[in-house]
Amino acid sequence: MKRVLVVEDEDSIREMVALNLKMNGWEVLEAPSAERALELLQSNPSCDAALLDIMLPGMDGLSLCETIRRSNADIGIIMVSAKGQEADKIRGLSIGADDYITKPFSVSELIARLEALVRRVRRSSSEGRENAEPDQLVSGSFVLDEKSRVLYKAGKPIDLTQVEFQIMELFFRNPGTAMVREKILEGVWGKGYFGDVKIVDVNIRRLRMKIEDEPSSPQHIMTVWGYGYRWNP
Ligand code: CA
Repeated sequence: MKRVLVVEDEDSIREMVALNLKMNGWEVLEAPSAERALELLQSNPSCDAALLDIMLPGMDGLSLCETIRRSNADIGIIMVSAKGQEADKIRGLSIGADDYITKPFSVSELIARLEALVRRVRRSSSEGRENAEPDQLVSGSFVLDEKSRVLYKAGKPIDLTQVEFQIMELFFRNPGTAMVREKILEGVWGKGYFGDVKIVDVNIRRLRMKIEDEPSSPQHIMTVWGYGYRWNP
């Protein structure tokens, strides 16, 4: 069963979301605070996804996201922000969230996004792949290990989130090709994704911090102005 952690201090919202997720076949862990969420994750490490409200008493959702990511690259994370908190959204994505949704949201949209997120995470896990697929993709001095989900640069391991890993997969399969941002969005987040292309830029920025020697003048993930990005191995 798919398991999701719902972190929200407003009881009525949390209970409504949890109820709807349960009706859609999810196992739900509920936490009214970040502190409680961390306890729950410790005893239930196999969560597929987490829904993190940003505004929480005590530790906020952004710090929670950062804390979870430090030890777990696999869990899918959706941040929940209030209207007008654009800066928080971008910050959330830059510290490892996979997606965001703005309050007030419709439960059906939330469920669609969670389903898409978990499908992505599962699709990219080894059991869902064809046996014929190679375990490693090689591009220049980079190696993408499909089994361990780790990127190696000149033999040095670099930890990636699921979304970052999938962007790299897309690049590796299309070296030297200018990829329009919408195509990257569709390739990673799936067809019919509701979000905007900014999420691509934020992930690219984060990837550059991880893989480029000089993130401000990238040699591998090139910007194609007014279009998208190109992988230069
Ligand atoms: Ca709240």
